[in-house]
Amino acid sequence: MSDCIFCKIAAGEIPSTKVYEDDDFLAFMDINPLIKGHFLLIPKSHHPDVFAMPDETLQGLIVRAKSLAAAARQGLGANGVNLQQANGRAANQIIDHYHMHIIPRWEPDDLPVANWELKPGDEGDIGEAAEAIRKAVG
Ligand code: ZN
Repeated sequence: MSDCIFCKIAAGEIPSTKVYEDDDFLAFMDINPLIKGHFLLIPKSHHPDVFAMPDETLQGLIVRAKSLAAAARQGLGANGVNLQQANGRAANQIIDHYHMHIIPRWEPDDLPVANWELKPGDEGDIGEAAEAIRKAVG
C-alpha cells in the first residue's frame, strides 16, 4: 500500500489539484485529462477495485460522485457527465486503488468514452450471457 500513488495523494505526500475533500474521500484533477475538467474521486482508504470496496464506502462514494458530477456540469457548463470506473487489467484499470473518473461532456465532442456504435447482438449469445449472470447472482 505504501507504493500506491493514490494513497500517497490521499495522504498529501504527492501534491494534487484538489476539487473536494472530506475525512473519507478525495477528488482531484486527472493529470492526463481526456477533456477539460476531467477529475478523479477516490476513497482515502486503499481498496484495489470495486469488489474490494466495503458497501458502506461504495455508498458514500456514489453519493459524492453525484454531487461532484452536478458541480462539474454547473461549474463548467457541461451538457453531460460520464462516471467511469474500471476493474482489472482487461477493463484497462491501471492504478490498483479504486477510483472513479468524472468526465464532463459537451455535445459534440470526440471522446471515445461511451461512444460505441450500436450493432444488434446475437439473441442466443445475449440470452446465454444473461443466464450465466443470473446463476452467478444467486
Ligand atoms: Zn492506495
